[in-house]
Amino acid sequence: MFVSFSKTQPTQTNTTVKSVIKRIIGRMYTTYLYLIKLNMGRSTQEVTEGKASKSLKKVQQELEALGIFHGLLDKIELCVTRIPSWAVAASGWFHDRGVGKFARLMGCRENVIYLAQDTEYRADRLQIIRHEFAHAWAWRNPQFLQKKWFRAAFKRSYFGKPWCSRRRWYVSEETFRSGKYWSTHASAYATYSPAEDFAETFEAFMRHKNNLDRFRTRPGFYRKLKAVEAAVKNQKKELK
Ligand SMILES: [Zn+2]
Repeated sequence: MFVSFSKTQPTQTNTTVKSVIKRIIGRMYTTYLYLIKLNMGRSTQEVTEGKASKSLKKVQQELEALGIFHGLLDKIELCVTRIPSWAVAASGWFHDRGVGKFARLMGCRENVIYLAQDTEYRADRLQIIRHEFAHAWAWRNPQFLQKKWFRAAFKRSYFGKPWCSRRRWYVSEETFRSGKYWSTHASAYATYSPAEDFAETFEAFMRHKNNLDRFRTRPGFYRKLKAVEAAVKNQKKELK
């Protein structure tokens, strides 16, 4: 998932009533998001021409140059959903843990990167598509993502739970830029879970692969970039 806006860190509250209300609202919101996501299956069209298609081709060429496209990511499609990003609280989506029976009935498919219809700018599209390809990689080759290198770089399993049990929790943009996360993570959103940390790092790696040294001043993040660089090389070898 790629979320297009950041959320501030929630403050703690001791009031039971407040927390119960919060939980109910949280559940309702989760259900709403789930239903909207199911609708993505129905309201999408595979992209074969236009701006989104051009962005997809560009990213496909980048993956090809890295040697991890053919035999791994060449069957991944791009669909533009009629659902706007604000309604689903995300600009892109990929079912990296498979599609459930019900979701399948609703038309959701596993090999599809879903892109919100209101993704206007090329740079944003490229960023989202690259990010979602990281999830596609995890879906196509979970064994590779479960190898030691991932845990060594990202602390936990790709398929592990988010860092915080609170729904959609990650640090604010301000906290990210001013605090310790700047040196360890690609973005504020990367602090959500190991999977998003990986997807954001992979996106940054693809964008800056010829000049990773510029991130030496952010040592933790730099180590993750180098781990992704090595993983890409190993995945390429495995595909040969
Ligand atoms: Zn994601």
